[in-house]
Amino acid sequence: MNVSVVLFTSDLRLHDHPPLRAALDGSRQVVPMFVRDRAVAAAGFAVPNRLAFLADCLRDLDSGLRERGGRLVVRSGDVVEEVCKVAAEAEADEVHLAADAGAYAQRREERLRRALEAAGVRLHVHETVTTAVDPGRVTPASSDHFSVFTPYFGHWSRQRLRDALTAPQTVRVPDGIGSEEPPSRAGLSGLSPELATGGETEGRARLTAWLRSGIEAYEDRHDDLAGDATSRLSPHLHFGTLSPVELVHRARRAGGPGAEAFVRQLAWRDFNRQVLAVRPAAASVDYRARHDSWRSAPDEVEAWREGRTGYPVVDAAMRQLRHEGWMHNRGRLLTASFLTKTLYVDWRVGARHFLDLLVDGDVANNQLNWQWVAGTGTDTRPNRVLNPVTQAKRYDPEGEYVRRWVPELADVAGPAVHEPWKLPGLDRAALDYPEPIVELAEGRERFLRGRKS
Ligand code: FAD
Repeated sequence: MNVSVVLFTSDLRLHDHPPLRAALDGSRQVVPMFVRDRAVAAAGFAVPNRLAFLADCLRDLDSGLRERGGRLVVRSGDVVEEVCKVAAEAEADEVHLAADAGAYAQRREERLRRALEAAGVRLHVHETVTTAVDPGRVTPASSDHFSVFTPYFGHWSRQRLRDALTAPQTVRVPDGIGSEEPPSRAGLSGLSPELATGGETEGRARLTAWLRSGIEAYEDRHDDLAGDATSRLSPHLHFGTLSPVELVHRARRAGGPGAEAFVRQLAWRDFNRQVLAVRPAAASVDYRARHDSWRSAPDEVEAWREGRTGYPVVDAAMRQLRHEGWMHNRGRLLTASFLTKTLYVDWRVGARHFLDLLVDGDVANNQLNWQWVAGTGTDTRPNRVLNPVTQAKRYDPEGEYVRRWVPELADVAGPAVHEPWKLPGLDRAALDYPEPIVELAEGRERFLRGRKS
């Protein structure tokens, strides 16, 4: 029996972790490790909100391993060099890793394979643990991926998923392998004040609560901005503290229309990943080239970022993003439509701002959802423009969401809060709230004209 290294990446959990299980089954001792990869920081993805959540995840993973007699080895630097060093220190003859179809992960895997081969260490790449259905497992007859969600979902739903694995009882780690202290939130600046807590323990507690009370009403309430009736599991899915396979199984066991609607959203996540796996350029280039003459409009972009557009529901959602590092999906849809269509600003500008703040900020989900809204992606109705006032009246009918996030309007009762420009003159003058920065009809026309060019 040998020693194995298990490299954790976007799968920071002990439950349902096939690489860890395989390593434990086949080895005398195992080194669970995580590398604070300097390439991720260099690419601009190590933003404070996600670093804080990651720190929680690593501390929780370390304590989960310690409860089982092990520990987490944390290193910083080049991921390939660090894995090779640890494998040498532990005299390991195997490294286990979960597959990941992302472009960066593919390059990492390839480099790792070559470096380990040269050192006489076997690399075992296990099936992906970050999606329910592996990218590439379902493809249409005529293409390498599905470009439309509905047919994809039909195939996705018929896939048989493996059973979810339990967490190991015991983890034996060799002595003498150097490790940094797992990072902590302390010392990080620029965090959103109400940022979610990371870690598998927190994720599992949230999942259990969601299945007990939440999922049942999901179909009816998922678009209710003030009701906040979605699972908020997205950061846990992003960091892999929860397994999508386990989520699908447990939601299906819960049953009912709410669970069905929830599972459908999990399939959207897999859908975006299967697109990006074969079209990695879609992270930064139009999925369907449209040759837009985007406006730069720096003042309007700044007003959008700061939540000072004069459209209360847009401003509420943008302020929620800054305050929580998270935004309701309906808010994401309407703020993205406002930027890319009403203001006719490049989707990459908005996507970057979201990635700077979102605790669930995720290249596949973020970039492809931005493209979907901008009409350059997989939306089958690319020219629809969401009207923020109509959206607000539908999804925040009493105006509670707006009053929660835009205190300047806290005294405006009922749905009138969505159109402060209609308030009688005196009331308006008393508000410290901006006039709309754009006429909606004008913005819409400009987009429809511009996207043809
Ligand atoms: P729930 O409604 O409870 O859904 C459950 C899970 O399904 C989510 O956690 C998520 O993993 C998945 N999911 C839900 N909606 C979508 C969707 N439209 N596309 C893909 N997966 C989905 N999601 C991210 O995880 N990271 C991002 O960076 C991100 N950026 C987005 C940007 C824009 C412009 C838009 C319109 C959407 C974006 N989404 C992103 C998708 C979605 O808004 C979030 O996943 C969702 O709001 C997270 O909240 P929740 O966990 O409560 O979701």
